[in-house]
Amino acid sequence: MQKQVTACWQADDKSLVVSCPSSRGGGNYLVGVTQKNGTILIAHSCPASQKGLRCWHIDKALHAFKEWRWWDSDVKNANIKSVAKKIQLDQNWKQIPIPGIEIDDLLEVI
Ligand SMILES: [Zn+2]
Repeated sequence: MQKQVTACWQADDKSLVVSCPSSRGGGNYLVGVTQKNGTILIAHSCPASQKGLRCWHIDKALHAFKEWRWWDSDVKNANIKSVAKKIQLDQNWKQIPIPGIEIDDLLEVI
């Protein structure tokens, strides 16, 4: 299983949604990241997050979000808050290239 973001959508100016493969395979978790008053909220629902554990989905989503808003100094200093909430795909979202994908990951794809 690859611990990589597989797709990315822009929901609005300050919200990003990434798709992560589930560890048991066959499914995806959507992870929503949004910025609100100096806090970055990360919402998704996987078994780990429901138990209040920090999972790789959060790290990857946060990484993508920081790369996406690299010019925003508020993002660097923001508090991180994780919320156990299921995110549903919305047809109004715009699919965008995955921000901050590492060179090594790219080489694997080529
Ligand atoms: Zn998770």
